Amino acid sequence: MGPWCFVDHFGPTGEDDPRRLEVGPHPHIGLSTVTWLLEGAAVHTDSLGSEQALRPGQLNLMTAGHGIAHAEETPLEEAGPMHGVQFWVAQPEATRHGAPAFEHHGELPEVAVGPMWATVLLGSHGGSTSPARTDWPIIGLELLLRRGAAEVPLDPSFEHAVVVLEGTLEVGDTVIEPGRLGYLASGDTELALRAHGDGRALLLGGAPFESEVLMWWNFVARTRDEVDAAAREWNEASDRFGAVPSGLDRIPSPVPPWRASPAPD
Ligand code: MN
Repeated sequence: MGPWCFVDHFGPTGEDDPRRLEVGPHPHIGLSTVTWLLEGAAVHTDSLGSEQALRPGQLNLMTAGHGIAHAEETPLEEAGPMHGVQFWVAQPEATRHGAPAFEHHGELPEVAVGPMWATVLLGSHGGSTSPARTDWPIIGLELLLRRGAAEVPLDPSFEHAVVVLEGTLEVGDTVIEPGRLGYLASGDTELALRAHGDGRALLLGGAPFESEVLMWWNFVARTRDEVDAAAREWNEASDRFGAVPSGLDRIPSPVPPWRASPAPD
């Protein structure tokens, strides 16, 4: 949907079920990771030397370009309920071979949407623009739902998706709850929402992407040869991805299915 190619909605875990994020060093190419927490805490470290704590209301945006490696971990003393999302946004040809980068945004603009509030995570809405980097025309809003209806203006050149994190939302005649993603093709100028009560949802959008992408493991590319090269170079610890200052074990790349030996008869 637009350049958005992956949504990972993790949690919510219960009060009596303390969890920690514990993802050891692993590589990425050709994408930006967009991380947004509703509950809990995480520390991001990467091969650029970044070390950044992330808390609810803050945005981490890591852009891989030609290659980066990172680790994500919840400090032991902050283990507790976790709830959040990480999105992957494909980079266009113009930037996907470029330098990696990392941004943290502690404050993001908020705009009223009828009886609700929206935080502008990416792109522009209602005259407010997120400071976060974008490589392709895109919008990412978090909607703080309140019981009632709202009309959200849309860019008709964008496709959109609605992801409900908490609560229940009606989009037109369709009821969307956590675990489902509502898709809207381009052409609409307005999104009619009705929330059944308090909750949170994400409105994601973007211009239709310039090409198909090939996504495998942590790599967003165009061809199998590009993925093969990235997997090999990560497993050989080449300088392409660099080193991550993390106490966790490095996660090796599995073998792409098109390179696996056929099973014996
Ligand atoms: Mn990652």
